[in-house]
Amino acid sequence: MISKDARSILEYFKSLLNDLRVRAVPPENISSDDTFLEVDQTIKTMRNAAAELGNGNLSHDIKGKGYVLGSMKNLQASLRNLTWITKTIASGDFSQRVHFLGDFSDAFNSMTEKLESSIHELEEARSHFEMVFQTIPDATVITTIQDGSVIAYNRAFLEATKFTDKDLEMGLFNICDLYVDHSQRVAFIKKLETDGFVENIEFSFYGKNNEANIGLVSAKIIIIDGVPHTLSVIRDITELKAIEAKLKQSEELHRLLADNAADVIWTMDLEGRFTYISPSVEKLRGYTVEEVMSQSQEEVLCPGSLIHMHEGLNRAIHSVQNGHPFQVFRGELEQPCKDGTTVWTEATVSGIYSEDGRFIGMLGVTRDISERKLMEEEIRRLSITDKLTQSFNRLKLDETLEQQFERSQTSLAPFAIIILDIDHFKLVNDTYGHQVGDRVLIELVTVLNQNVRTGDVVGRWGGEEFLIILPDTRLEEATGLAERLRQAVATHLFTKAAQVTISLGVSAYKIDSSPETIVSRADRALYQAKEKGRNRVEVR
Ligand code: GH3
Ligand code: MG
Ligand code: MG
Repeated sequence: MISKDARSILEYFKSLLNDLRVRAVPPENISSDDTFLEVDQTIKTMRNAAAELGNGNLSHDIKGKGYVLGSMKNLQASLRNLTWITKTIASGDFSQRVHFLGDFSDAFNSMTEKLESSIHELEEARSHFEMVFQTIPDATVITTIQDGSVIAYNRAFLEATKFTDKDLEMGLFNICDLYVDHSQRVAFIKKLETDGFVENIEFSFYGKNNEANIGLVSAKIIIIDGVPHTLSVIRDITELKAIEAKLKQSEELHRLLADNAADVIWTMDLEGRFTYISPSVEKLRGYTVEEVMSQSQEEVLCPGSLIHMHEGLNRAIHSVQNGHPFQVFRGELEQPCKDGTTVWTEATVSGIYSEDGRFIGMLGVTRDISERKLMEEEIRRLSITDKLTQSFNRLKLDETLEQQFERSQTSLAPFAIIILDIDHFKLVNDTYGHQVGDRVLIELVTVLNQNVRTGDVVGRWGGEEFLIILPDTRLEEATGLAERLRQAVATHLFTKAAQVTISLGVSAYKIDSSPETIVSRADRALYQAKEKGRNRVEVR
């Protein structure tokens, strides 16, 4: 049994241990017992030491004896040691390890390991960054904003500026010296300070050899040790600029050539819209470049030529679609002019390809061939015209006979011919001379032409013999015409020769005929007419 006194002492100790704030008065009977006094003293010392350690006062000295105080002393020593190790690690010495205090030391150890590895990573990253910095292909430099002195630079920076490591180490170089035009540096800094960065600003810079280069600089402000610096990346575009200038020059030259060429040079996109037309188009068609730009294809080409051009271009585009190169189109085209006339041109159209080989449009050269066309027409006219009478010649007659024969063979359209010969022409020559004879031939053609329809073809078959081809004409109609012609000639008053008559033979297309058989039948009819006394018409 615990006495009442003993219980009150126990209550007192309990309150001492449990609540540090208790300032309980010890019961009377403690002072009478040494053992209780010692316990009372120990608890008070312990409580005091715990409070001091709790406040971080490791220099507090714990006095006293016994198991609990001994543990308190150990704890104090351990905490002191821990503080020392923490300080050592904080200074970067990771060789320290803690081997006591259980969970606490484990956590502490893992923390130091993490710290150790992260510092290692940091070092790795640093060397990695160093490597990247050095191998950036563009010149990269870090300078102070204040005075432009160089903090760091890479290989490419040395290559671009031709300065050496030594030059930079000796402080011979200042970023401000780089600028050919100092105002560019001022503008650069100003932009950097307002925006925090600059991007692709073109500037001229001197290398060590005082050669001016052109660079494209991008920069941003970075903070090193609390001080703002500039990190600049400079791309040397000197060569690029030179190529660009050359390109522009050749482009201008080409434009100049195109603008001044007599031929019209044009480009067209795949939708058939003009993308360029040289000014010479105005001389060709009377329309200005602006007017032609907005013209539809129907306004640019006459109907027949539009079909011709479409066929050619479709063929060319088709070959492109099948993986073949654009087939150059060359064609003669008739184009409308502003004054209502037309002009004949020759267009040569080739494909335009993009750098990666895609077909993106067409390039055309249009040449005025109206003079050539006129000449060709004249040559053609001469080739089918009889020099003396200006009627058609044998060549044209043969061609027309062939055409009419083929046409009648396929469509059964009728056609007829009249062959005629001057009666006793030898007598005209003999009486009035050859020149009067020639005159008669010329006048005869006039009389014949005056009496035929426009589609009829009157030509000199040879000597004083003429052939008239009558398309879409039956034998009876042709016979009627022959009779009218006979009368017209017989009543015409020829120069000097006065009266001249002709004999005529008529024939028409028959299914079994050839052009030659039709002519030979007419010939035989003519022979008959002569036989029967001349100045008459015979039919076969
Ligand atoms: P017919 O036909 O009625 O039988 O008598 P013809 O006198 O006309 O006879 P023929 O056909 O034989 O004579 C043709 C003459 O036409 C011969 C030739 O001198 C003449 N003649 C042929 N070509 C020309 C020519 O270009 N100019 C001139 N002046 N005479 C020509
Ligand atoms: Mg004759
Ligand atoms: Mg004759």
